[in-house]
Amino acid sequence: MATVEIRDVRKSYGPVEAIKGIDIAIRDGEFLVLLGPSGCGKSTLLRMVAGLEGITGGEIAIGGRVVNHLEPKDRDIAMVFQNYALYPHMTVFDNMAYGLKIRGIPQAEIRARVDKAAEILELERFLDRRPSQLSGGQRQRVAMGRAIVREPAAFLFDEPLSNLDAKLRTQMRVEIKRLQDRLRITSLYVTHDQVEAMTLADRILVMNHGVAEQIGTPLEVYQRP
Ligand code: ADP
Ligand code: ADP
Repeated sequence: MATVEIRDVRKSYGPVEAIKGIDIAIRDGEFLVLLGPSGCGKSTLLRMVAGLEGITGGEIAIGGRVVNHLEPKDRDIAMVFQNYALYPHMTVFDNMAYGLKIRGIPQAEIRARVDKAAEILELERFLDRRPSQLSGGQRQRVAMGRAIVREPAAFLFDEPLSNLDAKLRTQMRVEIKRLQDRLRITSLYVTHDQVEAMTLADRILVMNHGVAEQIGTPLEVYQRP
């Protein structure tokens, strides 16, 4: 079964056709990477799935429901951003809990979900700290934790590693891989980094100038002449 279906989706900015008809279905538990050079339309496509950008044509369904006209908060997704987007005045616990609080989830349920995510991400000892008291890698894990506690149908990653130095980038890549092996989260992951795509992806969609140039496993994409 497919969790996210993107059907002939198009996007124009005035006369500029940024996305020229993309078709892809992300299966349950699949990690799909959107790979391509700057300006090819990766971010636009991800933002349309998130509901942060209107759709010019086509249809997007999440969990079997067409979401074209749904607000971001009403789509069953969670986003992980490259700038972490953590609240500096809140503790790690409150940062992870916030998205649940505003959705009216009961306190005990919040506690249970945050504790579970903290265990998975090895953040148990840091729940009372503020983001400024954490390393870059720990902050990135909190950002992941915020998404995990939501238990969404799909995770959307917008170049989450691109602001990190090389050492941390490698660490986080391994971390995301480990998480994926453990939780099998359904994911759409945008990057221009081939190594990230090759190591993380179940399948890669290679984009160029708003079209899907190739879709395949890392091996298939890599072996293509
Ligand atoms: P990528 O994420 O692959 O770098 P983008 O999705 O950001 O690419 O951009 C795809 C194309 O759409 C580019 O040509 C970009 O200039 C254009 N574009 C993106 N956002 C806007 C916007 N808000 N207004 C006009 N053009 C845009
Ligand atoms: P979350 O969904 O991560 O718990 P919120 O509910 O506060 O956080 O965010 C509402 C919506 O706003 C999110 O679904 C996301 O689409 C968007 N959003 C949140 N942070 C950012 C950001 N830094 N940049 C762009 N959009 C964001």
